[in-house]
Amino acid sequence: MAQDALRDPEKWNDAWDAFLKRHRAFPNGPYDYLFQYALKVIQEIPRGLEGTLAGYPGLVRGTCAIQRNITAEALDHFAHDAFEVKWMDAGSEVRGRHILGAMAAVCSKARNLNEARNYCPELSLRRLRLDGKLFLGLLNSVLLEDASFIPSKPIFVPHAGWDAWAAAQSKLNDSEEEKIALAEIMILRTKLICGRGLGHVIQFTMRSFFNKPPPELYVEKHRKPIKKPKDQEKGAPAELVALLGAEAANIQWRDHQAGVKARHSECLARCSYMSCTKTEPPDGSVKFSRCKSCFEKMQRQVLYCSGACQKADWKLRHKAICGKALDFETVSRAVEHPLSAFTSDMRTIGPPIDGYKRSLALTAQVTALNMNPTVDYRLYDAHNAPVDVDLGAGYPQEIFRAGRVYAMTTGNELCVGFIAHYLCLWFLAKAEDGSSHGGITPKMIVAQLAREFELDRLGETVLAVQQMQNEHPLRRPPLLTDAPPELLASLNEDENVKKLCGIVVTLD
Ligand SMILES: [Zn+2]
Ligand SMILES: [Zn+2]
Repeated sequence: MAQDALRDPEKWNDAWDAFLKRHRAFPNGPYDYLFQYALKVIQEIPRGLEGTLAGYPGLVRGTCAIQRNITAEALDHFAHDAFEVKWMDAGSEVRGRHILGAMAAVCSKARNLNEARNYCPELSLRRLRLDGKLFLGLLNSVLLEDASFIPSKPIFVPHAGWDAWAAAQSKLNDSEEEKIALAEIMILRTKLICGRGLGHVIQFTMRSFFNKPPPELYVEKHRKPIKKPKDQEKGAPAELVALLGAEAANIQWRDHQAGVKARHSECLARCSYMSCTKTEPPDGSVKFSRCKSCFEKMQRQVLYCSGACQKADWKLRHKAICGKALDFETVSRAVEHPLSAFTSDMRTIGPPIDGYKRSLALTAQVTALNMNPTVDYRLYDAHNAPVDVDLGAGYPQEIFRAGRVYAMTTGNELCVGFIAHYLCLWFLAKAEDGSSHGGITPKMIVAQLAREFELDRLGETVLAVQQMQNEHPLRRPPLLTDAPPELLASLNEDENVKKLCGIVVTLD
């Protein structure tokens, strides 16, 4: 089936549609059936539970990393290529062509991705093609709030049916196999839709839409399984045969088993330290060393690219599980990598608070600022080229940055007005100095921030802030009027601040 994807995508897709339709007709709903199906593979592959548990952190981590990359890429298209508008204007035929091409390209790369389509009813070509909003919604639902760091948990693709089923399932007193099967299904759904390593339906579609080459496909080198599965040729389960007929069921079943095994070995060829992204080179030139105790006691391959990674992982995580039998609780805790929390605390601008939801353009801005800690704001000139603002060290920069954090975490309109107004003053002062700075005008600044913060009347707010400046005895920019007393004297002497006091922002 995976091979059909490239040869005849339409036919391949029709077969999938028919397959998903059959699932829906199954007595206890498709979710229960697919879950039993995933469970069976774990139970029937030798060391399936152990391998699945050992590979789970790697699967989660890889998914998070790719989710970050896709967010960054999507933000770029939303912010600068008018992706939303172009996509809706494109019409169903064009959209369908890009989506089908992407799905076929992704699913043909690996059997486990082809198999994962089982779990993704939202990847229905017919529906995605007809309603352009569905794809945008799918994309929107998995974007991170800030793409400047790799989170410790992925955003799972929401789906009413799966989510309700998973919630009911998790209330049961599950076996270890059931817990990990459920966790794997949820990750696999996310993995196929927003991808990792081998496949990215969303990323492929976006690249194809903007005429860009598909992402580099890096097929990881798979370690040989430690023990050769002896019942590899065992036939498909009876339910599947009843559903599809013997021939189709066997093809499905082989895809599925190969997929699960690929997943296990794929995770094994990576360095086990959470912060390290190295994998064994495909040409076999370098062999990672493995944890001796884990291998001897549990026949578990825990690989490290270097002594440094092994040492770092030992303290952080591995000590607790080394040479011991794994269970789902321990493995899930291992995924919660303390370093991610550390990295996110180091961010200049934290996540939104009080239920504030950032626009995509603002998420793009926050990401850019967190990735470039010396930049105070990223503006765009008339040609959409980025112009990075550096206000220079000192109190004005400090207070601007504090205002920036407040505005970007709460969306407070007056605060946005303060920082927008200050940026306008700063650019007008630069223009007076004769430095062009991309010809950025107050009107452009206000338009950009209005879009980022989704404030249609930001212009009026900025003018009101200017009025506050006009009424100040020293005509000081309102952003700077609350300076602590010990700073006021130096602020009064500051040449740059004095200059700003003489400028009036207009939006003509
Ligand atoms: Zn490493
Ligand atoms: Zn170990």
